Amino acid sequence: MKNIVLLGSTGSIGRSCLAVVREFPSRFKVAGLATWSHVEALAEQVEEFRPDFVSIGQEGAAERFRRLNSRPGLEVLQGESGLVELVRLPEVRLVVNALVGAAGLVPTVEAVCAGKDLALANKESLVLAGELVMKLVKERGTQLVPIDSEHSAIHQCLAGRTASVRRIVLTASGGPFNGRRMGELETVTPEEVLRHPVWDMGSRICVDSANLLNKGLEVMEARWLFDIALRNIGVLLHPQCIVHGLVEFTDGTTLAQMSRPDMKIPILYALSHPEQLVAPFESCSLAELGTLTFEEPDLEQYPCLRLAYEAARAGGTVPASLNAADEVAVEAFLKRRIAFTDIPRILEDSLERLEPRQAGSVESVMAADGEARAVAEKLVSKVCGR
Ligand code: MG
Repeated sequence: MKNIVLLGSTGSIGRSCLAVVREFPSRFKVAGLATWSHVEALAEQVEEFRPDFVSIGQEGAAERFRRLNSRPGLEVLQGESGLVELVRLPEVRLVVNALVGAAGLVPTVEAVCAGKDLALANKESLVLAGELVMKLVKERGTQLVPIDSEHSAIHQCLAGRTASVRRIVLTASGGPFNGRRMGELETVTPEEVLRHPVWDMGSRICVDSANLLNKGLEVMEARWLFDIALRNIGVLLHPQCIVHGLVEFTDGTTLAQMSRPDMKIPILYALSHPEQLVAPFESCSLAELGTLTFEEPDLEQYPCLRLAYEAARAGGTVPASLNAADEVAVEAFLKRRIAFTDIPRILEDSLERLEPRQAGSVESVMAADGEARAVAEKLVSKVCGR
């Protein structure tokens, strides 16, 4: 029986994770759940999974939760300190971090420092401070298994072999606008962006997938996770989302991992690694699919991917700044304050205004994050006022 805490339990990955736990009641026990503000959904999860602890991020939401909660003895924690307390619980062996955005970094670091294994869906932890996090993982001898489907694929293809790798490739669906020119996208609405053709995902990642910023963040994530040079990480557009990642080895062999686009599959892999469990998930049928296509992405068409590669090469706090500016720009787009095509402009202008620094500590990275948010906010206001 593995005791787990799940951060971000009411989001898309969190709900899929609990669906996996539901399938294996004798394998996984939920010790703690955390949400930002979705207290109604949290109350239902508490009823079903009976954790001893919950943590709630948004101020005021904990009060609302207390009125909904019917479980006596449940401890209700709050804010960032609540997340830290959760990941440090002595009875917990595995922390599933499915928080969205830079807010996931501190819990990741705290979990590793407390010697917990980590199933990581929060890619920002590695985008912002990958070098630092991976150093800690090595020092503490803990296990970090990615939940992101592409990284899960690479992890499976590598199976621990790193010396004989020539190159890795992450695939991207291309999102709902694949094949449409940038100029045609001025007027797309949040509803159109949120309608992802294949994956069922949260709102920020839907926007980031439509402009491939998400793939750029995943390149940074892969760089640290697998300790591989940026120039050896490729991206291919693959709209069917069946092959999630490929590893090219030095002997000319390429291994690819395939599965139906269902996040429960990589989640189960991360939760159970190094074991492989018998699960009720269907295999993909290549005969039914018939054709799989792959195409090199055009960086003119996807300026966000170009910006992400540039930020990755610059290193230091630049990836953190890019991510923070993107969190601000995406929220502004979802609130209809700016156009979809304003997002790359705001990212580029933000980076031009920010001084790159070394990413030596969590504090320096979070300071860069705060600074970039302020700059991006100003740029958003300027766009709104035009
Ligand atoms: Mg992914």
